[in-house]
Amino acid sequence: MKLSCENNHIWSRFHAAINESATAAPRLQRRTCQSRGICDSLVNETLGEAQIRPLTDEVIGKTRLCWEYQHVGDFKNMSTFMASLEITGAVIRPDDAGYDEARTAWNLTVHHRPALIVVAKNTQDVVSAVQFAANEGLSVAVQSTGHGTIRQADQDALLILTSGLNQLQVDAERQTAWVGAGLKWGEVVTAAQLHGLTPLFGASPIVGAVGYTVGGGVGWFGRKFGLAVDSVIRFEVVISNGEIINASATENSDLFWAICGGGGAFGVITRMEIKLYPVTQVYGGNLLYPVEAAKDVYRFYREWIKTLPDEFTTSIVLMNFPNFQSVPEFLRGTTGVMIRGAYVGSVQEGAAYIQQWLDWRVPTANMFQPMPVSEMHTISNDPVDPVPSMTTGAYLRELSDAAIDSIIRYGVQRNGSAPLIFVEVRHMGGAISRIDSNANAFSHRDQSLNLYMVGMTPIPDTMTLFKHYTRQFKRDLTSALSGGAYLNFLEGAEARGRVREGYTPEKFERLKAIKAKHDPDNRFGYSYNIPVN
Ligand SMILES: Cc1cc2nc3c(=O)[nH]c(=O)nc-3n(C[C@H](O)[C@H](O)[C@H](O)COP(=O)(O)OP(=O)(O)OC[C@H]3O[C@@H](n4cnc5c(N)ncnc54)[C@H](O)[C@@H]3O)c2cc1C
Repeated sequence: MKLSCENNHIWSRFHAAINESATAAPRLQRRTCQSRGICDSLVNETLGEAQIRPLTDEVIGKTRLCWEYQHVGDFKNMSTFMASLEITGAVIRPDDAGYDEARTAWNLTVHHRPALIVVAKNTQDVVSAVQFAANEGLSVAVQSTGHGTIRQADQDALLILTSGLNQLQVDAERQTAWVGAGLKWGEVVTAAQLHGLTPLFGASPIVGAVGYTVGGGVGWFGRKFGLAVDSVIRFEVVISNGEIINASATENSDLFWAICGGGGAFGVITRMEIKLYPVTQVYGGNLLYPVEAAKDVYRFYREWIKTLPDEFTTSIVLMNFPNFQSVPEFLRGTTGVMIRGAYVGSVQEGAAYIQQWLDWRVPTANMFQPMPVSEMHTISNDPVDPVPSMTTGAYLRELSDAAIDSIIRYGVQRNGSAPLIFVEVRHMGGAISRIDSNANAFSHRDQSLNLYMVGMTPIPDTMTLFKHYTRQFKRDLTSALSGGAYLNFLEGAEARGRVREGYTPEKFERLKAIKAKHDPDNRFGYSYNIPVN
């Protein structure tokens, strides 16, 4: 019996089915074939010598994926098309030369190995890919940049890359923009700033706008204007049956509610319409203090943020500066405490708040200055090149003295002992907490301190160390933790394992019901694992 098929995924399923039937019975039973696409045609056919032959490359081309099953022996008369998939972008199979490059994520610890990759160029490509996945019983995984992979795409998944969905339309008059699912925040900021407008972006200019937004989106405008997700007007979504629908406060409003915080568990978002805000400059930057002053700096920060207006969104960071070329030489290998943030208002007002620090204690460096919105990514200065990293987080009730001691104990690198690059506490509140808590699925708006930890984890041992270390760190902090999780700051198994903590129990129940309605087969199971009721 000779079988050949260029698609390993289909091959292995078919092969297993044939093996089973060859040993068990001469007929291929429906129950022995897991591949819905071919099962219907093959069921009750007598199994004989079969050859599965892919169409020639000229036919497949880059734009059309099509397998033909040509059978010899008992299958002579049967010509089954497993699928006929029209794709403007590209379809990449495991044996194709571009497979390894395409499955790469920004985070180098992520190793997708999907059955098939579809590089979508337009919404119709996403429709074709979702329909194909549904016919074949494949799950759908989605990647924009690979900054926040929730579950690595495996052999039972079709991975849709959204990077080609890069349409961007700014409506300066309405102060809105349509943002394609492949766009990164830096690209959206640049286009909006041409009109004196800004979206509610995050720390890094290369994080995907849609992926960031559907998880909530805590950025430097958070206390002034709210979360990124609070400024979405509508999503264009491809749902599990391949239908393209709009979700907004007035159309498919349950789905809109769910995606706003529930992420990609309900469909593939192909673009979103968002509000923009008329801001071109902030007073932003960092203050750096030596690690020896850490305890006093945290205590001063604790009192200082109580006085801040919504215009000032800040964080405090314990930073172990890596030995990288991009880090100024005098900082490499050292640890410091940084106060960072952006004041949305006049330079004088912003500077007056920073002056309180300067009057309290002279910092090692004061990098606060008037800053164009397009330069705000320099506040966090997140890495642009792909890195192997892990993140985790939790909400803090308070920066008690005991919590400060834990942060310093676990956050400071001593002889290479701490696997953390930095520990950041972001100050929430302001507009984030004032928006109606039932407005969308995003939960825990009342939390005021958001803890975020990041480590470099180039080898499996360092990944294991990071997990143990941060678990211990959080245990040490227990009395200061308020429960709940900000899912954008979790990733991988932890994001899925702690998904319930991302929501209030009532919202989680509602998410389950909406999931059951829109994705009953859990086609989008490579996102947050929201079970079907
Ligand atoms: C360096 C860095 C800086 C960050 N800064 C911030 C910050 O300031 N504030 C903050 O809130 N978060 C921040 N994050 C977290 C970030 O918002 C999440 O990791 C987010 O999920 C990244 O989205 P992405 O599309 O870039 O990543 P991806 O890994 O491509 O996507 C993450 C997940 O989002 C879903 N998804 C993405 N696009 C779609 C789509 N079109 N349709 C359906 N599902 C989709 C998928 O489930 C996917 O697994 C940061 C992360 C990093 C690594």
